[in-house]
Amino acid sequence: MPEIDPSAVPNSPDAWHALATEWAQASGALSQRYRDLMQGATNHLDADPHGPYALAWPLGVLAMTACLGGTALPDAEPVVAALTAASERLDGAPCDHIDHPYLTDFDAKALAWKLRPEEMVLRIVGTGPPLDDPDRWRCPLNVAGFARVAAEAVSPGTFDDVPVQAPANTGRGLEHLSDVIYDHPYGDPYETLVGETRELLEAALQNAPGLPGLVVTNCALLPYAASERVESVEVLDEIITALEAAARRCEDTPRCDHATHPDLTDFEDYRKDAELMLTPGGRRAYRWRQRSLGGIPLEAWTCRHHLGIEAEIALDDLREARADLTAEAEQADEA
Ligand SMILES: [Zn+2]
Ligand SMILES: [Zn+2]
Repeated sequence: MPEIDPSAVPNSPDAWHALATEWAQASGALSQRYRDLMQGATNHLDADPHGPYALAWPLGVLAMTACLGGTALPDAEPVVAALTAASERLDGAPCDHIDHPYLTDFDAKALAWKLRPEEMVLRIVGTGPPLDDPDRWRCPLNVAGFARVAAEAVSPGTFDDVPVQAPANTGRGLEHLSDVIYDHPYGDPYETLVGETRELLEAALQNAPGLPGLVVTNCALLPYAASERVESVEVLDEIITALEAAARRCEDTPRCDHATHPDLTDFEDYRKDAELMLTPGGRRAYRWRQRSLGGIPLEAWTCRHHLGIEAEIALDDLREARADLTAEAEQADEA
């Protein structure tokens, strides 16, 4: 297939297919090709926000965010500015529609679009199966809505009134934690423990927004970490140091008034939510679902007051495990 020029509007079904495929498979957000594709999409939207293909452009941007895994696009500012300007130009025009696909065609439970963005593109430009009610799709308010959807995906926290998809699996899954917690480790459990611990320490030192999520993952590992299966004082010391740093960060948080906090008893029950807590986009996606369907608010999930207490409880167990381990080692030395 010939290389697509992102500065030109595709002039055939094949060219649309090629561009939509490239959007969906785009990776390497710092590469020149990625930037060219992104800029092509925002320029086209800016040039013709009422045109027949107007909706394809924000959807192209949205498709390209899959590789970001819930993090913000580096140097997102011009992209966000272009999408915001388009939304402002298009929004406010009266229409007869009760609602629009940018809200109705999102599955809040699965935190995913009912059609993938690139599939929506092909249907809009007329090379895929026809859309139900195409006027509703082409409505300027819908184009404006998807421009905000794309801006929110490019830079989490930009718009509050649009759905947020869960980060694609390019992000950090937590299955490897399950393996350790449920005692079926494929790799080296120490590596998992130390890996999580170092991320926690880093987040605590930087006071990063991801700190609460990392307290959750480290506390989830506690049944393994504080068990007799860990025979390394050094590993325990690393975990203790990181949790102490995290607990210190949480210390100053005023007592909260949340009615409830997540139940962190069985990791498999909350693993998917815990994954969402690790990235800005994931937290925004959780928030959208909670607002749409109910459940524990994001603020209670990331509550530093509560997680400070969880960290202290974990520290008690870990210090005890460390004392047992050193006592055993001394006994073995004496024997
Ligand atoms: Zn409308
Ligand atoms: Zn709380």
